[in-house]
Amino acid sequence: MYLSGRIVSLELSKTMELNSRAMELQSKGEKVIRLTAGEPDIRTPDSIIEAAYLAMKSGKTKYTDNRGILELRRKISQYVNNRYLANYNENNVIVTNGGKQAIFNALFSIINPGDEIIIFDPSWVSYDSQIRMLEGIPIHIKCYEENNFLPLREDIEKAITNKTKAIIINSPNNPTGIVYPKSLLEFIVSLSITHNLLIISDEVYDCLLYDHSYTSMTSFDAIKEQLIVVNSFSKAWSMTGWRVGYALAPEEIISQMAKIQSHSTSNVNTPSQYAALKALSVDNSFMVEEFKKRRDYLFEEFKKLNLKFVKPQGAFYYFINISEFGLNDIEFCEKLLEYGLAVVPGSAFYADGFIRLSFAASFNELVEATKILKTFFRDRR
Ligand code: PLP
Repeated sequence: MYLSGRIVSLELSKTMELNSRAMELQSKGEKVIRLTAGEPDIRTPDSIIEAAYLAMKSGKTKYTDNRGILELRRKISQYVNNRYLANYNENNVIVTNGGKQAIFNALFSIINPGDEIIIFDPSWVSYDSQIRMLEGIPIHIKCYEENNFLPLREDIEKAITNKTKAIIINSPNNPTGIVYPKSLLEFIVSLSITHNLLIISDEVYDCLLYDHSYTSMTSFDAIKEQLIVVNSFSKAWSMTGWRVGYALAPEEIISQMAKIQSHSTSNVNTPSQYAALKALSVDNSFMVEEFKKRRDYLFEEFKKLNLKFVKPQGAFYYFINISEFGLNDIEFCEKLLEYGLAVVPGSAFYADGFIRLSFAASFNELVEATKILKTFFRDRR
């Protein structure tokens, strides 16, 4: 009676559900390999930790501008301009509590009740819930494995109505690891210009690419006035717990996002902002090398196991088709947990019949996980 129907109808993030179960088993002393997490297992580089410490020691422990400290916003804009030949300045940037809050504030700034937002499935868990929380309507477009989990052009065109406000793109993609080709992005850009739609481009995995060329939405000047780009320090510098992300957008949208922040969280915690400032000059290519080794190891092992999947080009997930096993994805994950391996069911990403396995885990754990999968498949096939 007291609760908001809008919130009651939401579910807790499903990716966390299996993870919590696995952690519970671990706390009871059972051996469980957890390949559920969407976070690098690697430590945050020491120089970043030191920058936060030094900032605190020198009194940087007070509120900041709602949009984030000027040095950080300026450095983010320069970093993106250099990387993608874009043309942003500090007024196009807001620093947020992770990419998650950047997406939420972006949606909050643009959704009027009943507005439709297009998302491509399999899709990251929070897009749908955030849109619903804000009284928007998520329009899910299914992407097929046969098409490398990329949306079909005709399906996007068909989904557009006079209520469509925005399209969310996520490349490199969680959960599939797919990178959107430039030609498809060009198509979405031209469609968005024709129909006057916004694009929200979630690029939080843009630093984790494996021998694959990448196009950031920031490199399309023609869409700049209709574009919100979200990024984060979480995955790129292994800083998930620091909670720093950002959005790049036209000043008008950034001002709306700043208003939301000023009345809700004020600003991202100050030491983390200084840590992020440092991170932008820390070489993070060691992470790509490390994750590439793991991806390649699993690729060979999964081939031997005759698994059906699309080789990930970025991020750190394998999205595996399990439809041949006669179990739905939740049953499959529960059975696999009995063997000591935790992964996430595809339905958490609006794609039944698949599981997501994260390779952001130590090499030893991946070797163990492969052994468990071998036994599991031998018993089930
Ligand atoms: N977007 C995608 C696709 C993600 O996978 C995640 C994290 O899992 C985020 C956004 C948000 O990450 P954070 O809030 O830690 O920056």
